[in-house]
Amino acid sequence: MVVPSHSLPRSPPDLLGVVGRDLAIVGGGPAGLTAALALVRAAPALAARIVVIEKGAYPRDKPCAGALGGRGERLLRELDALPQTPFLPIHGMSLAGAGGVVTARLDRPIGRVIRRFDFDAALAATARQRGVLVLEATTVEAITPLGRGALIETSRGAIQASIVVGADGVGSRVRRAMGTPTGELRARVLEVDTERLPGEADDVLCFDASERDFSGYHWDFPTPVAGGTLISRGIYHLTREGGIDLEARLEARLAHRGLSLARCSKKRFAERGFESPTCLAAGPLLLVGEAAGIDPITGEGIAQAIEYGVLLGAFLPAVLAGEGSLDRWTEVVHRSRLGRDLRARSALVETFFGADRPAIERLFLDHPAVLRAGCRHFAGLPQAPFDLGSTAIHALPPLFRSLSRRARGATLARFPALVCAGKPPS
Ligand SMILES: Cc1cc2nc3c(=O)[nH]c(=O)nc-3n(C[C@H](O)[C@H](O)[C@H](O)COP(=O)(O)OP(=O)(O)OC[C@H]3O[C@@H](n4cnc5c(N)ncnc54)[C@H](O)[C@@H]3O)c2cc1C
Repeated sequence: MVVPSHSLPRSPPDLLGVVGRDLAIVGGGPAGLTAALALVRAAPALAARIVVIEKGAYPRDKPCAGALGGRGERLLRELDALPQTPFLPIHGMSLAGAGGVVTARLDRPIGRVIRRFDFDAALAATARQRGVLVLEATTVEAITPLGRGALIETSRGAIQASIVVGADGVGSRVRRAMGTPTGELRARVLEVDTERLPGEADDVLCFDASERDFSGYHWDFPTPVAGGTLISRGIYHLTREGGIDLEARLEARLAHRGLSLARCSKKRFAERGFESPTCLAAGPLLLVGEAAGIDPITGEGIAQAIEYGVLLGAFLPAVLAGEGSLDRWTEVVHRSRLGRDLRARSALVETFFGADRPAIERLFLDHPAVLRAGCRHFAGLPQAPFDLGSTAIHALPPLFRSLSRRARGATLARFPALVCAGKPPS
């Protein structure tokens, strides 16, 4: 139940309109808005009970290169909610390593690049058309779990909700209210838009992982701006081994191509990878999207945010009908396709960015089928048997070596005495 704001602390009258909206979704990005749309699709009567609380005012920007995989497109299409905003279709990916470059292209689009500025605003407009109350320019400042539900204090007054969904991204206030730690798979990101250089493709996502001395990569993605095509360029750095100077590195890379960082408007942000085991529900609070965790290897999170929202749309109506409890959310996510995918990616962080990095790079450069399989995965397409077979045959040996090296490391860390085995006592 949402109580009138005049009966709660610090409540100006402008939140009176939320009376009856007891499913509060904090954050109006892809995760929160897809969750609202999926809930309304599953149980139309819920529309009158949902409030999305967003601190920005639409159209609001969100630092993001905007590459949305076909899997995410399909999920939004199934909700009849794929925004009709400008986009560039993407047909492939390229990966540059210290030893060369490999490009994989499919004969159909694998996704699109959108601008979050208008994409998220269009999603919010669709949610509103379907009866969801979207409160913008409203910041959630504190969340206090009550006996039943929670009290949400916002910049415009207080709301009492029976369930609070944290879709509030990387710095999630809901996650902090749950006491869930930020985790170790955090990344820093710096992004700029520049002109497109001669010869640069307008339908390929380019990753450059050739600088092996940091856990991350540079990217160059085409992006639609004002009817033309610019290139979103940036650097992604998993901060686990300490800081690097993002700006100096991006500047050097741009200068190498005759571009000037000083002339660009810089967007800095953070990202948060999924970690297992992570608790995604506590009492009336639960997490979706980047608040819960996204892909820590590439920082891809839009399609994942959408998939979290769709999962919630299938889960919550059953809980509201008295079948099962909210506590099951963590298990539901972990057992889902999304959860398995995110767990695999977080388990592979060390393989991609640790001692086995050169072997993984060779895997991609020597066997283009592996990147083609990656394109199909991003697109949510069934795998081609040859590419799948080739990926399995060539990826298994380096993966096995990497995992066994890590298992050995973990064993030695756990039983340090083994380190001395075979050495004469000093
Ligand atoms: C530079 C950069 C480039 C990226 N490029 C890509 C890419 O190309 N492809 C891709 O798939 N992913 C990319 N990502 C990741 C992607 O942007 C996120 O993973 C994705 O936006 C997560 O969606 P979300 O809905 O969970 O969170 P968000 O999109 O972050 O939405 C959270 C919302 O909550 C609101 N909010 C936060 N706190 C509060 C509060 N206290 N009160 C009210 N509202 C609040 C925010 O204003 C925001 O609108 C990139 C990220 C960065 C930083």
